[in-house]
Parts: sequence; C-alpha cells; structure tokens
Amino acid sequence: MNIKTNTNFGNIKETYLFSEIGSRVRAYEAANPDAKIIRMGIGDVTLPLPKIVVDAMVKACEEMGDQATFRGYPPEYGYGFLRDKISIHYANLGVTVDPESVFVSDGAKSDLGNFVDILGNNNVIIPDPVYPVYVDSNTMSGNNITFINGTRENGFLPMPSDLGDKDVNGAVIYLCSPNNPTGAVYDKKSLTSWVDFAVKTGSLIIYDSAYEAFISEDDIPHTIYEIPGAYECAVEICSFSKFAGFTGVRCGWTVVPDSLTVGGTHLAALWKRRQATKFNGVSYPVQRAAEAALTDEGIEACSKNIAYYKENAKLVTDLLDEKGIFYTGGKNSPYVWLECPEGYDSWAFFDKLLNEVQVVGTPGEGFGKGGDRYFRLTAFGSRENTIEAVERFKRTL
Ligand code: PLP
Repeated sequence: MNIKTNTNFGNIKETYLFSEIGSRVRAYEAANPDAKIIRMGIGDVTLPLPKIVVDAMVKACEEMGDQATFRGYPPEYGYGFLRDKISIHYANLGVTVDPESVFVSDGAKSDLGNFVDILGNNNVIIPDPVYPVYVDSNTMSGNNITFINGTRENGFLPMPSDLGDKDVNGAVIYLCSPNNPTGAVYDKKSLTSWVDFAVKTGSLIIYDSAYEAFISEDDIPHTIYEIPGAYECAVEICSFSKFAGFTGVRCGWTVVPDSLTVGGTHLAALWKRRQATKFNGVSYPVQRAAEAALTDEGIEACSKNIAYYKENAKLVTDLLDEKGIFYTGGKNSPYVWLECPEGYDSWAFFDKLLNEVQVVGTPGEGFGKGGDRYFRLTAFGSRENTIEAVERFKRTL
C-alpha cells in the first residue's frame, strides 16, 4: 500500500511479558503433567459480581426489551443517574466533584490511552516501574518521556526531588496510587509535594486511582482532590474494575474539573469534544450495574470482596515479614512487590518459583527497568490457593 503509518509505533517496546510467562508455564506443564500450578501473576479479579449488581443489570436488560422503556444511544458522557452517583461517591470521600465534571467510560485503560489525544507533544514524566499503558500511549504520540525511578530507597514512590536538576516547565505527570505493580501508596504529605510541584511548574497530573477502594490506612488520600491545589492541576481516572469486579463488564470514569485551563481553553471542553467525536457511550445495563455498585448495599458487597483479597495479601505479607524480605504493597493494594533473593533477577526468580514450588508470579522487569530485581504477586486468587502458595513459599524463600 502507498500510505503512511504512524511510525511512532516502531518505538514501542514490544512486551513479551505475558506471552513469555505463558510459554514458560506451558513448557513446565508439558514436562510435569501432574504439577498443580498456582497462578498469582495476573491482575484480574476472580470473585463473581455482587447480586445487587447482577440484579440491576438484568432489570436494565429487561427494560431494553420492552417498547415502553427501550433506550437507544446513551449520552456520550454518561447517564445523569451515574454521574450523580459518582459525584456522591466523591462527597463521601469529603471532596466536591460536580457531576458535570465526571465523564463515564468503558474503563480506565481507554481514558488513560485516549487522554493523550487532547494534549500536544509535551514532556511527560512517568515513574518506573509502571503500568505500561502510560508509556506506550505517549510513545504512540511521539512524546518525550522522562522516567523517575521507584527504588527501595524511596519506597517505590518517586518524588519531584527524584527529578534532580531537570528543568520542568509544563510537563504531563502520571501518578498511580495505590500503585500497579508496586502496591505502594502516596500519603497526603507526598501527594501534596506533587500537587505543589505541578502548580509551580504549570504541569498537569494524570492521577490513576483505579485501586482506590483497597485503601484502608489513615492518611492515605482516596482521591487527589483531597489535596489543596489539585483542582488546578489534576485529572483523575478511576474504574469499577477492581472496586466492583467489572473487569469483564467495563466501566470507569474520568474527572476533568472545569478549573483546568490552558491559555483560556478548558481541558474539559477538549475532552468533551474528543469523547463526543470518537466514543458513543457506555451501555445502559452496564451503567445501571455501576450505579448499583455505588449504593450503600452495593458498596457493602464490593467491600466484602475487597476484604477477601486483602486477607489473601496479608497471608503473603505476613510470611515476608517473618522471613525479613523487603516488599511494598499488600496493605492498601491487591499487589505485593517483593525483592528477589540475592543473585536472582526477576526472570531467574520466576523460574525458581515455577520449578521449585510451582507458583507463577510476574517478573518486575515487565514493568520497566526499575523492576528488574523485583517480583509481583497478586492477591486476586482463591483463599485455598493463597494458603497453599504461602506453604510452598515457606520451603523456598
Ligand atoms: N490503571 C491501572 C493502574 C491498572 O492496573 C488497570 C488494570 O489493571 C487499569 C488502569 C485498567 O482499568 P480498566 O479495567 O478500568 O480499564
């Protein structure tokens, strides 16, 4: 063909992470057909949807099958009933978010990838290790990325001071707390440093709070809008995936406060234009299901599931504490990020766990260079498997 393609795609680092994990596991299974492998690698939920959510979805489907209540295209930015409920969710967290600033979507990943559409070719600041979507979507747009390293020393919570003497003037900064893959969380003081830095340098923070519902410790912000100044510098992207088990249902949202402007242009106006042009909204049954997840009864049911995962995480972190192994996460997060033993990089440690105790995790290198000597375990499995995995770890760690 005689056309041009987006050559920036050539700069995306091909990630073989999950296919490489898959092929190593298959090879092991072929050689050891009786082995019972425990999978603690994938960041996907496993518990079924709460009944109140399913009932709401079924009822909405029935409405769609009835002439009197049938609905066609949904509003591009979300039904009022769901935008209102999300606004109330923020009020319960102690902050004000106008329903008009809430944009409902089919998930956080889409919004994180699509937000780049409304921004120009800015300098972008991204932590390493990191959820790969921020890096890849900016690479697709040809943006210049500066990485800031998460390390054992900073607890995998890079701060503006980790930028050293780099001159920052109007950058786009990605922050994720609770973090994937490290499970680390910014407290109020450290998040305040980021907000102050963004305001001072005329930067935009894109704040990914997809794991917000896992926060239980005091002094950990549930939303960036708890931090003074955030309405002037931050958009927040969140999801029903991990809170309500919607990974297969698909619903999330982005908050773009009206106070965010660039040279007189409202970012919210650009986001509206982008969404109205390229997105046709989230289906009615899904939005009704999301609404149900945010009722008192829905929150109670979802919280039970989250507590279940967190108990799994505690089983793992208790063992790491006992063994004196350095880790982050597990307390306000479904992820436990542990340091590999002396002499092992993350893939060597992957092989050790697979071969010696038949447990599969995720090598940290898959999340960036900074993850090279670290390993991610997830708490999304069953209690039975987690207990069994911990027993096996006792033999090898
Ligand atoms: N943000 C982070 C940090 C994630 O880990 C994930 C999914 O694993 C997402 C966003 C994507 O969420 P969604 O399922 O809403 O697209």
